[in-house]
Parts: sequence; structure tokens; C-alpha cells
Amino acid sequence: MTTADAEPSPLPAPASVPGRADAGFEITARHGAKARAGVITTPHGPIATPAFIPVGTKATVKAVLPEAMTQLGAQALLANAYHLYLQPGHDLVDEAGGLGAFMNWPGPSYTDSGGFQVMSLGAGFRKVLSSEFSGGVSARTASGEDDAVAEGKERLAHVDDDGVTFRSFINGDVHRFTPEISMQIQHGLGADVMFAFDELTTLMNSRRYQEQALERTRLWAIRCLAEHARLSFERTHRPYQQLWGVIQGAQYEDLRRQAAHDLGAMEVDGWSFDGFGIGGALEKENLGTIVGWVTDELPEQRPRHLLGISEVDDLFVAIAAGADTFDCVSPSRVARNSAVYTRTGRVNLTGARYRRQFAPIDESCDCYTCTHYTAAYIHHLFRAKEMLSSTLCTIHNERFVVRLVDEIRAAIPAGDFDALREERTAAYYGAPR
Ligand SMILES: [Zn+2]
Repeated sequence: MTTADAEPSPLPAPASVPGRADAGFEITARHGAKARAGVITTPHGPIATPAFIPVGTKATVKAVLPEAMTQLGAQALLANAYHLYLQPGHDLVDEAGGLGAFMNWPGPSYTDSGGFQVMSLGAGFRKVLSSEFSGGVSARTASGEDDAVAEGKERLAHVDDDGVTFRSFINGDVHRFTPEISMQIQHGLGADVMFAFDELTTLMNSRRYQEQALERTRLWAIRCLAEHARLSFERTHRPYQQLWGVIQGAQYEDLRRQAAHDLGAMEVDGWSFDGFGIGGALEKENLGTIVGWVTDELPEQRPRHLLGISEVDDLFVAIAAGADTFDCVSPSRVARNSAVYTRTGRVNLTGARYRRQFAPIDESCDCYTCTHYTAAYIHHLFRAKEMLSSTLCTIHNERFVVRLVDEIRAAIPAGDFDALREERTAAYYGAPR
């Protein structure tokens, strides 16, 4: 259902919703102009920030047990609303007791709004969006068309002012998402942190289109807050779920600042966003600049999530610019293709040099894989196409990124952020970044 044309009715005051007062964010240390360490409080436990949040798209981190994710230090997991809506359905996950209960993950969880996937998992779009990202840091089109669908390709997503109509990537059935539907899906899924429904644009969209999309995203944010308030009050039998607004605006400073200012100050009957996501098209070389524009404008006391990054240099840049949490599918996706991160860079374990490396992937790694298995064994598993290869390498890669961000978090109060950045980027890339 949509409520765009519904009669405005008074929303319940936020303070009257049980548990909402307990959902918060506290800054515990700072470094430089923008970097901060802190703690996000959720009903499923705290998240010490900065934190890397591994992605479990369909309520599973592919090939890895939730117990192993706990063991490798993951504080929270992020699942995709779009995928879980299509299969098995948010109603079923709700009936199971919510995402965490359904997948046997006791810790905090996030869901994205589904906006990125409904607009990107189309035939025309898919060709031109980087598959490395869940959140669209490298989103761009080859064609430069405003609707980002290549000539002659079937258009799988249609955006209008009320929502998005799209075809299922599973069977081609037609579905529709609106801000209200996204909120209903995410409330059903029951994650601790949800994101407002936003319109994905690309770097190749015209300035005029970016302005229109941004205004649409602003109006959708208001509708998300209203629906979130209604559902929070209706669903007091469930733990309180935070709603974070998503800042778009592509590469334009004025649009990014305006969006951050608008959503940062947005209030609907006393309800405001509990945190913020920074989404959309970002080029790697402008990452720190764009995140900086946004964090300049956002309220200081609310957490900020940067969608879709996990590269070593990007994490330092984003944290220095004031981002608190991050998610990315890359660590698990590349692991299944035999690529692993090491302190001295990314390597591929199918290479002949690993055939007789009777030592861990990375001597400095403390993960379960590196403390129990040799690179030679994992090389063999990949050559023999054994499933265990994916499990062992995913554990290693997720641990690598989680641990790096843990080290950055420890470096902030210690005053070692700059030294750690120089040391780790120099080791990883061959020169400091
Ligand atoms: Zn390891």
C-alpha cells in the first residue's frame, strides 16, 4: 500500500515508543578534524565504531557459519531488503522472530532499503555497475543516459515520484517499492538499523536529473519517517529499530551539502533520523572530499554509514572524513574467487607459488584459517574445486577487514591514526596513501 495521498494523521511521539531512548550513539574519542570512535547502542548489543559490517545478502554470509562471523570479530551483519523481500519474504522472516532469530545471528544487524538493488539489478544497469559494491561507490554508466539503461535493453526498473516498479531478478515478476513498502519490509525483517528508501543515480546522470532525483529522495525520506513512526508504534512487541536517512547528490558539492542539511534537520512530528547513510555515486579519488562535505552538514551526534567500501586506503580516508560504519560484499565475493588480502597486498591463491607454501596465507593474520590451515592446502582446495576453499578464504578476508578497522578504532584514542595509516597503506600498496 502507499500512503502518499493519505490524510495526515498525528504520529505517536518518539518517546512513547519502548526502547527508542536506548537506541543511541556516543562519541568516545576523536582524532584530527573529523575522525571519531564511538559506540552505537542497539537492542542486540553495542557496536564499537569505526566498524566494518560484513554483508549477508540473503541472511547468510555465503559459505560461513554465523558462529564463525562472531569468532572473527564481526560486530554486526548487513542483509539486503530486496533479496529477502523476494525470497523468502519479509512476512516469513517476521514470523520467525526477525532476521537475527531466523539466521541464528544474536548480534546487531542492518538492512539496506532495497533501493540500490531495485534500480541496479536490471539488464541495462547490470552491465555498467560495478559488481564489487553493494552500495554503489563505483556506480556509473557507460551510456550516460539519465535512466541508465543501455539502448535496446529491456528496462527493468521504472522510477516515478511515488516509487519504483521493477522486475524480479529471480523470475521477472513485476513488483513495486515505495517508501512505505520499503519501511514495511524492513520492519518485518527486524534489523536494528534500517535505511530510508532513496533513488540511486549514477555519475553520468545529468545535473538536472540529479536535482530531480535528490528532491524525490527528500520527499521519500519524509514518507519513510512517517511510516517508520507508525510501524514503530504498531510493533512495540518488537525491539526498536533505528532508521537512518540516506544522503545522495553524486559528485556535486552543493547537492551533497543540501541533502545532508535537509535530512540532518528533517523532523516529522518529532521523529528524526537516528543516523545517516552516505550512498550513491562516488569516485574513489573524491571519496574523502565528498564524505567530508556530507559530514560537515550532518548532526555530529548521529552515526554515519558509508555504503559499499572495504579497500584499505578507502577505509582510512572515510574514517578521517568522519564516517563510522561500512559494509561491502567484496571480502566474501573475491574470497570465493581465490583472491585474499594480505598485509602486503591482495594475492590469488591459485598461483603456482602457493602450491608448496606450507605456511598460512598471511603470517601476521590471527584468523581461524591462518591459525589452522596452510596456503598450500587452500591452493589445493581451489584447484580441486572444493567448497571448503570459499569458507576458509571468506573467514580470512572478513577477518582482515574487520581487524583493520578494529586497529583504526584503537588508534583514534591512542593518537596513532596517522602512523597506522602510513604503515598499513605503505605495506599494502607499496607506498603510503
Ligand atoms: Zn587469516
